[in-house]
Amino acid sequence: MVRYDFDVVVVGAGHAGTEAALAAARTGASVALLTTNLDTVAQMSCNPAIGGVAKGQIVREIDALGGAMGRAIDATGIQFRMLNRRKGSAMHGPRAQADKHAYQHEVKRLVEEQPNLALRQEVVEDILFESCGDRLRVVGVQVRGDACYYAGAVVLTTGTFLQALLHLGESQTPGGRAGEGTTAGISAALARMGLRIARFKTGTPPRLNSRTIDFSRTELQPGDDVPQPFSFLHDSLDVVQLPCWITYTNQQVHDVIRANLHRAPMYSGQIKSSGPRYCPSIEDKVVRFADKTRHQIFLEPEGRNTCEVYANGIPTSLPRDVQELMIRHIPGLENAQIMRYGYAVEYDFCPPDQLWPSLESKTVAGLFLAGQINGTTGYEEAAAQGLVAGANAALLLQGKDPLVLSRDQAYIGVLVDDLVTRSVDEPYRMFTSRAEYRLLLRHDNADRRLTPLARGLGLVDDSRWQAFESKAAAIAQTLQILNDHRVQGVPMARVIKRPEVEWADVLRWVPALEGTPAVVAEQVLADLKYSGYVARQQTQVDRQQRLSAKRIPRDFDFRSIRHLRAEAREKLSRVQPQDLAQATRISGITPADIALIMAHLDGRG
Ligand SMILES: Cc1cc2nc3c(=O)[nH]c(=O)nc-3n(C[C@H](O)[C@H](O)[C@H](O)COP(=O)(O)OP(=O)(O)OC[C@H]3O[C@@H](n4cnc5c(N)ncnc54)[C@H](O)[C@@H]3O)c2cc1C
Repeated sequence: MVRYDFDVVVVGAGHAGTEAALAAARTGASVALLTTNLDTVAQMSCNPAIGGVAKGQIVREIDALGGAMGRAIDATGIQFRMLNRRKGSAMHGPRAQADKHAYQHEVKRLVEEQPNLALRQEVVEDILFESCGDRLRVVGVQVRGDACYYAGAVVLTTGTFLQALLHLGESQTPGGRAGEGTTAGISAALARMGLRIARFKTGTPPRLNSRTIDFSRTELQPGDDVPQPFSFLHDSLDVVQLPCWITYTNQQVHDVIRANLHRAPMYSGQIKSSGPRYCPSIEDKVVRFADKTRHQIFLEPEGRNTCEVYANGIPTSLPRDVQELMIRHIPGLENAQIMRYGYAVEYDFCPPDQLWPSLESKTVAGLFLAGQINGTTGYEEAAAQGLVAGANAALLLQGKDPLVLSRDQAYIGVLVDDLVTRSVDEPYRMFTSRAEYRLLLRHDNADRRLTPLARGLGLVDDSRWQAFESKAAAIAQTLQILNDHRVQGVPMARVIKRPEVEWADVLRWVPALEGTPAVVAEQVLADLKYSGYVARQQTQVDRQQRLSAKRIPRDFDFRSIRHLRAEAREKLSRVQPQDLAQATRISGITPADIALIMAHLDGRG
C-alpha cells in the first residue's frame, strides 16, 4: 500500500467537492481532492445554468464566503437575467446560462491554482475508520490501485454516484451520470459505520442539435440589457450574450406520453425511489396536471462552441422511440435531432438528520457529508454545503468552533438547518418560501451578512476583504450625507423611504452624490426603504435568538425527561437539537414538549 498524508481528504470534485476543498485549503489545511475523472470536475450533470430564485441568493452567499461559484459563472456565463425583477428586491434572483465546458474548466483552474490543495484522479473504494471511545473516527480512504490517503477529516461529496442505476425506457445501466460508472464500496462502508442509507431518483431532458431546430417557430428570450455579476469582486460584466428560446408541448405530445406510460420506468414499477415533486418529469406533469393543455419548454444553449441545446422542461426517462415521437409534435422541434436522450438516475443518499449542523456525522468523528449525498438536488445547494463542510473539516482539526450559519444570517443557514433538523423525504431544493427572514437574506447584501464572518475564519483573502471594506466605508459615508442633507427641513434619508423616490431623484436633490457606485447606491436605497420591515423581522429574530441561547448539551438524554411523549422522545433523540430554537423546528414537536425540556434544563423537571 502506498500511503499519502493530508489534513483533509475530499472525495468527489463536483460542485460540493470543489467548494469543500477550496474552503478547507483557504483556511490553511493541506487538502487532497480525489475524483474519478479530472475531465468531469464541476460538471453540470443537468441544466447548464447557475442561480435562479433563492438559488441565486445562495451563489451570492457562497461568493461572500470566498467560494468559487460566483466567479466561475461570471467568467463563463452566456446569458444573465435577474428573475422576479418586478417584485421587491428580497425576491430578486440572479440566474445565468453557463457555457457548460468553460464553466468546468474555470472551476478546475481555480482548484488547480489554490495553494495547499492537491487535485488527483483517484477512485475511492473504501473509508478507513477506527474506534475512539464510544464513537468511531475516520482516518482516511482507500483508493483503487493499492493506495491509502490518511487524514484527520474526510468530506464525502459523491453526488448521484453511490450504487447508481441509469434508466432509459426499459434499459437499466449502472452509472451515476450518462457515460460514467457507479461508485461501489462507499455505501457499504457507510453502512458498516452505522449510517442509514436511502434512495432517491432524478431525471434529465434530451439535448438537441440547434442546427435542426426551427427557431422561427419559437419565442425569443434575450438576456438582461445590463448583465449583473454574481461575484462581489466584479463591478460589471463585459459579455456577449446568447439568446434562449421558448416553445410548448401540446395535446398531441401529451397523447404520445399517455399512450406509452406503461413503458415509463416511473410508472412501470422499474423505478421505486421518489424524485423531486417540484421538478417532475414530463410524463409526471402530464399525469398530475391532466387538465393543462401545454407545458413550457426553454431551449437553452449549452455553450458558445457547441450546437447542443438543453430542452428545459421535459425531463424524461421514456424509451428512445417515444422521446423521438414526442419531439416531432413540438413547434420548432419537428425535425430536431436528439444528441443525448433524457434519462433518470436512482442513487443512494444518507438522510441528513444523521449530521450535526457542522455537517459532521454524529456517529463518526471527522467524517463530513455534503451535496447530493445528503438528499439535496442542485448545484448551488451542493456547493453551499461543500463550503460549510470543507471549512468545518479544517476548523475541527484546528480546534476551532464550526461555521454554523443561522436562519436569519443566510439561505445557507436555512438549508443546513432544514437538512439536519427535518431531514428529507424527497430531493431537497431551496425556495424563498423556506426562509422566514427573506427581507434580511437579500442577494444584494450577502457580502455584508457574511464576509466579515468569513474573514474571521480565514476564508476570505486580503483583496476581497479590502474591496469589502471600501464598499462598507462608501455606504456609511453616503448614508451620512443623506442624513445631513435636508429637503424642506426633512432629512433626505427619510425622504428616500417614500416608494416613488428613486436614485435619480436623490441625485437631483444631492448633486454631491453624483458618481456614487451603483452597488453602493443600491445598498443605501435598500437599507433606507426596507428599514421598517427589517426592524420588524429583527424583533422576531431576537425572540428566536433567546431560544437559541438555551443550549442543549450534545449528550443530553431526552429519555430522562418525565412526561415527555414517546414520539417526542424518539424524534428529539434522533435529531439531538443543539438548542431550544432548533428543537421547536423538529416536525411534530409541540410547545408543551418544549416547555418540558425547558423546565428540565432549568433543573425544574
Ligand atoms: C440525471 C441527473 C439529473 C439531474 N437533474 C437535476 C435537476 O433537474 N435539477 C437540479 O437542480 N439538479 C439536478 N441534478 C443534480 C445535480 O447534478 C446535482 O445536484 C449536483 O451536481 C450535485 O453536486 P454534488 O457535488 O453533490 O455531486 P456531483 O456533481 O454529482 O459530483 C460528484 C463527484 O464525485 C465523483 N465521485 C463519485 N464517486 C467517487 C469515488 N468513489 N471516488 C472519487 N470520486 C467520486 C464524481 O466523479 C463526481 O465528480 C441532476 C443530476 C443528474 C445526474
